[in-house]
This record gives sequence, C-alpha cells and structure tokens, in this order.
Amino acid sequence: MPSTSLSHPYLTDDHLHLQHQAQNIAEKHLASLTPELESRGPHTDHNVRRILSKTGWLGVLIGSEWDGMDEGHVAKTALLAAISRVNAAAGAILQASILGAAPIAEYGSTQMRRTWLPEIAAGRIWPTIATTEPTTGSHVLAMETTARRKGKDYILDGEKDLVGNADLGDVHCVIARTGKPLHPKSLTAFLVEKDTPGLEVVHRPLNALRGFSVDGLRLRRAHVPKTHVIGEIGDGLAAALLSSVVYGRLNLAAVALGIHQHILDITAQWVSIRPRYQGLLSDLDTVRHRIAEIQHRLMTAELTAYHAAYLLDAGQPCDAWLFNSKLTNHRAGVASAEDAKQLHGGHAGRIGNPCEQLRRDIDLIHAPAGPDDLQLKRLAEAVLGPTRTQWSAQHAARRHR
Ligand SMILES: Cc1cc2nc3c(=O)[nH]c(=O)nc-3n(C[C@H](O)[C@H](O)[C@H](O)COP(=O)(O)OP(=O)(O)OC[C@H]3O[C@@H](n4cnc5c(N)ncnc54)[C@H](O)[C@@H]3O)c2cc1C
Repeated sequence: MPSTSLSHPYLTDDHLHLQHQAQNIAEKHLASLTPELESRGPHTDHNVRRILSKTGWLGVLIGSEWDGMDEGHVAKTALLAAISRVNAAAGAILQASILGAAPIAEYGSTQMRRTWLPEIAAGRIWPTIATTEPTTGSHVLAMETTARRKGKDYILDGEKDLVGNADLGDVHCVIARTGKPLHPKSLTAFLVEKDTPGLEVVHRPLNALRGFSVDGLRLRRAHVPKTHVIGEIGDGLAAALLSSVVYGRLNLAAVALGIHQHILDITAQWVSIRPRYQGLLSDLDTVRHRIAEIQHRLMTAELTAYHAAYLLDAGQPCDAWLFNSKLTNHRAGVASAEDAKQLHGGHAGRIGNPCEQLRRDIDLIHAPAGPDDLQLKRLAEAVLGPTRTQWSAQHAARRHR
C-alpha cells in the first residue's frame, strides 16, 4: 500500500508492523466515515474517538509503566500518517490529544501521572493543549489568560482559541500567566477538567478537516485546585513549547504526509482510468511529469518527517529538523494538491470530489504548531542566531529521568 518504500533504518520491523495494523484498522473502520464527516460540514465527530479509544494509540508515546505503548516518535509518525491517508480528520483528532498528554507525561508529578496517564493510554480520557489566544496568537509569552492563587485553588480568567478537540476533550492543559508579562517563567500549565464551573467551549467552526473541531475555551473565575498545576509554577512556557515544538511539528508533519499520500493515490488512480485519444491520461508526458513531481515531493517530505522522528527517538538535539519537517510536509502537500487539481480538470472543484476536500485539508495544516513563517524564522535562527534552547534535548533528558 505505501507509495514509497521507506523502511530500514528509519522504520524497524516493529514500526512496519504497527503501520500495517494502522492501515488495516483505518481501512476497516475509518474509511467509510470519511465521506460522512465531509458531508456533515464543520462539526465535532465522536465516532472517531470511540473507534480510536479501543486501539491504545492515544498512548503511543506514554511509558509502559503507565500502561502506554511507549513506541516513540517514529512509530507515532507512521501511525498518524497511515490514519490520515485514509481519514485526515481522524489523524488530526488523535494528534491533538497526543499533544495534550505531553505536558502531563513530561512535567506532571508522579501522582498526576499515576492518576491521568493510564486513563489516557486506555482511551478513556482525551486531553487537549490550550495555549493559543484570540488576540496574542502565536506570541505565547504575551498571553492574557491569568491564574491567581486563592487558598488551595488557582482562579483562571481569559480565553483560549483554536484548541484542537476543545469540544471533545475531557481535560484541558491550559497555559496561563502567573507572573510578569513576557518573562520566560511567567507562565504555568494547569489541568482543567471539562466540568469545571466557569469553563465554557466557544464554537468557532473551520471549513476543513471536517469532524475535527478547533474551538475556543472561555474561563471565567474557573477554580482549579493547586494539585492540578502541571510541574512547577513557571513551567508553562516549557510545557507549551514541548507540546508545540517537540510533539506538534512532527504530529502535523505526519498528518500532512498522510494527506499527501492520499492526494497521490486519488490522482494516480484518476489519470490511470480516464481515457484520452487511443489511451489514457497517464500515457501523456505532461501528465506523467506532474505525477512524478508529486512523487518526488512526497518522498522528500516523508524523509524529513522520519529523519526528525528518528533523531528525536535517538535523543539527539534536532529542533531545526522538526521545524523543517513541518514546513516541508505542509508546503510539499500544498504544491501537490495544486498538481492534483490540474490533473482533475474541471472535476477538481466539484463538491464531493476528494481532490477539493484534500486541498482544503492540507491548507489547514499551515497554522497548527506554528505557521510556515515561524518555521522559517526558526530555521534562520539555526543559521544566524540567536542560539535558542533545544527543546528536543530537554525532552531527551526528561525521558531518561
Ligand atoms: C487546525 C488547527 C489546530 C490547532 N490546534 C491547536 C491546539 O491544539 N492548541 C493550541 O493552543 N493552538 C492550536 N492551534 C492554533 C495554532 O497554534 C495557531 O494558529 C498558530 O500558533 C498561529 O497563531 P495565529 O493563528 O493566532 O496567527 P498569528 O500568530 O496571529 O500569526 C499570523 C501570521 O503572522 C505572521 N507571524 C506571526 N508571528 C510571526 C513571527 N514570530 N515570525 C514571523 N511571522 C509571524 C505569520 O505569517 C502568521 O501566519 C491550532 C490551529 C489550527 C488551524
């Protein structure tokens, strides 16, 4: 089934086995949902959660001591790409809650990990990460949501935006300001349970990856017990960047990779059956050239994702590779969606044509875990400075604590 044959040294036999398993489950249980999610328009789907909860994949990075799979980032990349190739919204739903588990796994106290991680690994609890705000956007240190200490509680006030699975999640890792604006230790991460009085989901539909919802969270005097602080007061920026840089770049690269593979699948199939002159579209040199361009981009993008994941699993500092993999997979997928549009002719714009849907889906991968311009800014810093904290190195140190 894979259009490329990437295996050793990036994918071991265990990874290939998991990839195969994911392909089978996705084909059996998620493929039939894809047109249904699309035709319903923007909404929060609950069937994908029900199906994925049984697989244990939410725990792909959670340690075995907490009943997780402990399979690492290469496995996660293979898993998310295989799912997204069949149903991109399902890949997006899974990745968003993998992001939510990261701060608990890496910053949570033993007690917090003992309480939450086995539940997450079993698919009973779906977490989210809530960092972005309506006004300050990707400027995390400028966020306006505050947390004030009152007795044994913190009181959270503010608003989060574009939170993946906000409506689906059971517990939200909310980053809020506890110190002076713009100070690197001014933020703290809190676990906010969905039934917390003062917490409200604000629906703001997006017209892509239908079934996956990305909504706002409003906090009005929401009381959060002190035991729900993730890590220490002041660890919030590190928790947010762990989620976004170390886990997020690669998660979104993997979803983009799956969508990109799907773009090649439908386009190769289309040109191979559509008659032209005495043969098929696939006999024409111009058409073959465009298919080759898609394959070339796909192979390059796939390598950047697995190389970054491989380095991360090996404990190497690799932030620049993470930025590069997100950027490459998004850009390459968008360029291939354009080739697919050309090759589908007038049918590309038809409602219900997968080509039109995949163009919208790959487009939306632009912003999560940082827009392209931000990846470029970080890549320029890797060359010209200033030198930044390597979040991947910190992740490696914490995994072996
Ligand atoms: C599908 C999806 C899922 C998401 N999931 C989550 C989630 O689970 N949790 C969460 O907290 N957030 C999530 N987000 C939010 C995402 O992280 C933000 O959209 C992203 O950080 C950019 O913020 P913004 O959209 O407010 O754009 P802004 O920060 O306002 O940026 C707008 C544009 O300005 C330019 N720009 C801004 N800052 C810079 C800079 N420093 N350098 C260069 N150019 C810059 C870029 O061109 C950028 O595209 C999600 C978003 C989407 C679309």
